[in-house]
Amino acid sequence: MKIAVLPGDGIGTEIVAEAVKVLHALKLPLEMQEAPVGGAAYELHGHPLPPATLELAMASDAVLFGAVGDWKYDKLDRPLRPEQAILGLRKHMGLFANFRPAICYEQLVGASSLKPELIAGLDILIIRELTGDIYFGQPRGRRTATDGHFPGAEEAFDTMRYSKPEIERIAHVAFQAAQKRNKKVTSVDKANVLETFQFWKDVVTEVHAQYPDVELQHMYVDNAAMQLVKAPKAFDVVVTGNMFGDILSDEASMLTGSIGMLPSASLNAKGQGLYEPSHGSAPDIAGKGIANPLATILSAAMMLRFSLGQPAAADRIEAAVQKVLAQGLRTPDIYSEGTTKVGTAAMGDAVVKALAS
Ligand code: NAD
Repeated sequence: MKIAVLPGDGIGTEIVAEAVKVLHALKLPLEMQEAPVGGAAYELHGHPLPPATLELAMASDAVLFGAVGDWKYDKLDRPLRPEQAILGLRKHMGLFANFRPAICYEQLVGASSLKPELIAGLDILIIRELTGDIYFGQPRGRRTATDGHFPGAEEAFDTMRYSKPEIERIAHVAFQAAQKRNKKVTSVDKANVLETFQFWKDVVTEVHAQYPDVELQHMYVDNAAMQLVKAPKAFDVVVTGNMFGDILSDEASMLTGSIGMLPSASLNAKGQGLYEPSHGSAPDIAGKGIANPLATILSAAMMLRFSLGQPAAADRIEAAVQKVLAQGLRTPDIYSEGTTKVGTAAMGDAVVKALAS
């Protein structure tokens, strides 16, 4: 089982080191190879996704990714910015389904800004389509009142589009995920206003005919944003397009109050995947040894389950994380009175120890 390890920038290197430590502790035949990505790769090779890094990722069963980005790269041309590495990996690997579970751990109920009764036991899964929608629609651009060029533009435009096969494949992914959970899919659209999303709704409904055991609910995106904070536990699997998914998955992840806890997976049709924490490179705390590594460690668990066919090992990691939380160990982002504050490496060590027991 070949894993490309791409730590990236900021806290990326610190948190990935802990996930690698945990993976080694499983004593599975894992072949891990590291390569630079993002700002770190730009410094070394002049590009955020150098050919050797891309080749390694493409030749691996899975990619374990840290985070990329730093304010110091904000002035670079867009294709050279660290964040472009993620878009490049998504494109070349054909990653079309982004899974973001939002799970509220019993011990962290108090970390949410919502009332405990709304959040206790929360376990929802947001599935975001990654390859279509307004982010990749053509035409796009800016124009003046008289010609098709800028500067001096007076308007800008992007085109929203989805093809039938794109909607069908993400709908299948959502229904199949729901079959392994509570058998309910909420498809989020804006069919009342946008033709693209009337089409989305029609195609999802068509695919649903193949999954009679799963309940399908349609919801407008504005209502979904509201229901996510009003009654989040009413959801099971939420499936939506690229832009609505971008926004709703961040909203859902913050329901749990702890961005440092939330893993994510982006999968292609072959089961290859890129696994990363939901958060960014956190330049404000980089190098201080205080970042929470649990989102990355939980991403490694998702990797074992979805791309490496090792569900038992994934269960072991998740149980070990529950155990360290039950022991009261907390990095500063999830610390509360009466618990024990630990740093990044100590948290990783504690997970390894919990695995062994
Ligand atoms: P961020 O997620 O990096 O940080 C937001 C806040 O959460 C910060 O206060 C940070 O200290 C805290 N935080 C994040 N992860 C944490 C962890 N594991 N433990 C403890 N605290 C944590 O978002 P940002 O500040 O908006 O962006 C910083 C950089 O990261 C930017 O360059 C941005 O483009 C990039 N970014 C990258 C990714 C990615 O690599 N997938 C995702 C989002 C943002």
